[in-house]
Amino acid sequence: MRPEILYPLFAPVDTLPGLGKRLAPLYARLVGPAGAETVHVVDALWHLPAGLIDRRFAPTVAEAPDGMIATLTVTVDSHHSSPPGSRSPYRVRCRDDSGFLTLTYFHARGDYLHRLLPVGQTVVVSGRVEVYNGERQMPHPDHVVPLAERESVETVEPVYPLTQGIVLKIAVRCAQAALERTPVLPEWQDPEFLRRRGWPSWHDAISAAHRPTGEEDLSGLSQNRQRLAYDELLANQLALLLVRLNARKAAGRAISGVGALREKILARLPFGLTGAQRRSLEEIYADMAREERMLRLLQGDVGSGKTVVALLAMLNAVEMASQAALMAPTEILARQHMETLGPLCAEAGVQVALLTGRDKGKARQEILDRLAAGDIDIIVGTHALFQQDVVFHDLALAVIDEQHRFGVHQRLELAAKGRAADVLVMTATPIPRTLTLTLYGDMDVSRLDEKPPGRKPVDTRALPTSRLDDVIGAALRARDGEAKIYWVCPLVEESETSDLADAEQRHAALKQVFGDRVGLVHGRMKGPAKDAVMEAFSGDDLDVLVATTVIEVGVNVPSATVMVIEHAERFGLAQLHQLRGRIGRGDKPSTCLLLYANPLTETAKQRIQIMRETEDGFRIAEEDLRLRGGGEVLGTRQSGLPEFRVADIAVHGDLLAIARDDADLIVNRDPDLRTPRGEALRVLLYLFERDAAVRTLRSG
Ligand code: ADP
Ligand code: MG
Repeated sequence: MRPEILYPLFAPVDTLPGLGKRLAPLYARLVGPAGAETVHVVDALWHLPAGLIDRRFAPTVAEAPDGMIATLTVTVDSHHSSPPGSRSPYRVRCRDDSGFLTLTYFHARGDYLHRLLPVGQTVVVSGRVEVYNGERQMPHPDHVVPLAERESVETVEPVYPLTQGIVLKIAVRCAQAALERTPVLPEWQDPEFLRRRGWPSWHDAISAAHRPTGEEDLSGLSQNRQRLAYDELLANQLALLLVRLNARKAAGRAISGVGALREKILARLPFGLTGAQRRSLEEIYADMAREERMLRLLQGDVGSGKTVVALLAMLNAVEMASQAALMAPTEILARQHMETLGPLCAEAGVQVALLTGRDKGKARQEILDRLAAGDIDIIVGTHALFQQDVVFHDLALAVIDEQHRFGVHQRLELAAKGRAADVLVMTATPIPRTLTLTLYGDMDVSRLDEKPPGRKPVDTRALPTSRLDDVIGAALRARDGEAKIYWVCPLVEESETSDLADAEQRHAALKQVFGDRVGLVHGRMKGPAKDAVMEAFSGDDLDVLVATTVIEVGVNVPSATVMVIEHAERFGLAQLHQLRGRIGRGDKPSTCLLLYANPLTETAKQRIQIMRETEDGFRIAEEDLRLRGGGEVLGTRQSGLPEFRVADIAVHGDLLAIARDDADLIVNRDPDLRTPRGEALRVLLYLFERDAAVRTLRSG
């Protein structure tokens, strides 16, 4: 239950003054987290100013420089309305002792302006001064008030990020109203730590963050914003640790097979394991052997050999007469896993089956029955494995091949189908160390940081789109040399249709050159059609595969050695890296051609340069974080990274490690959050909507 003290902050955002039916949804979308169902007053608090307008500058009219915001005290001389039909503005002549100032208004209503600016009266106006033909003007002043109210204008105004329909005045009013409803909360930070850092209380910090008095107050490195960011990071780390603690508490079975099946498989593999694979397996086996539940992340670049590791881990469970599940994010990937595992398992006498959303009726029921009876040892599947009627005889290990499609919360759902099942999450997204903590702070991490031997580096080149013909020529030569070619056209969410048209057009154009051996695969295609094309490409029927980014995830066609990426400038680094990982999987040299449209932004230039320099996913991930830094959200929707409200990993990365240690200490000393600080920390968790973590607490 959310603490009562937070109720005012969790009222719906439309209770803020002056929004009304029309503006409330616009404002909610502006300040709310992406996809949020209900947007609360607290979201208005997290919507921090991105700029400011300093109205404290109050020169005489003659001193007011061109282009500057100034607050001027002037006396109104005369009104000059524009002749009907004319394009010139309504003008109000004013002066002070130093000179004249003309206020100009387009589309003005004279009666309103006469009331606002009575002739003969002294008023305070604030806005941008422009010098026009030697005359000082102020077009559409932001503020006009009587002299007595001068102080209300001579301030620093916060500037909020806005959206269509929400003007600054409304954003400021909502933020101020949200602040007025903000309670003083019990201190959850260690007082000594706050003192050393010189950080204010939460209430002071959030209030000050909305009332910047200089540019330095807008920086993520200001004391106020650091305090707020640290609060959020601590909430994040504490929540992850509590969830992990809870998951381990619930567990209790030791899995340690005799190794017979694993030996059989190892003997049949045409290769020996890499050092990194062996190291990771040792870590996994050790976890599984423990009475506690395993929560481990296996991180490894595309092609680093995660599948074999997963198989061996699953066999460890099967050797104990238990079951294992391998869940993939897409149909294609699930099938591919099945193709890899199927033959190996068959040789070892291990029963493996596939279950996806496409299995229906009797066939599906038969799989479910065999699964419930324990006749299936390993099940490979998609989201379909989550369904209610999927019941295991004895699930001991859930492997989740996350690539980067799943949300963080989903990973324990499958495990819940087992009796304290161990969980192994695999990700092909190399994640910078700092981010691993925020994303997977509840897990132990194994890294496959060594590629299987014999891989040839991919030769990566960048070319402007104007050289398309050369690229087609090179592709033709490669095809004659028996290479298979991926041809990637970008898919941007907002304009799915036109991008599809791009891919279809390219498909048609390449057919002119390559004949019928060109396939097309895109996200709008139905599963079986997609699979048919993929099969034709990995088999002998297609030479070229034109694709939108659906090939991004996990596909394995070792004979594909050329990849052309059109509009490479539109892709993020992580995405380019994932795409390129489709080639260079066999023993032949591979080439990746990045086609870009000029002009390139500085960031796009750097991204392409990094792609040419390295194939090391972990380095690319660090560079990606660096390039995206400075407040930009980390491609959240696409990558499943948590969206922070105040913290910015690129800026506050060092605070994250401190938050981690702090959370560790808290959980060790006060695992139920019962001390006074613990009680305050519960408020913190609710404040940042980590409610699920609080529910794991005894009498939460
Ligand atoms: P990932 O899932 O990490 O992208 P895979 O498990 O699909 O990588 O492995 C990529 C390819 O490398 C597969 O063809 C696999 O058989 C092969 N492979 C895996 N481990 C090794 C190894 N130790 N030595 C040689 N090849 C390997
Ligand atoms: Mg794989």
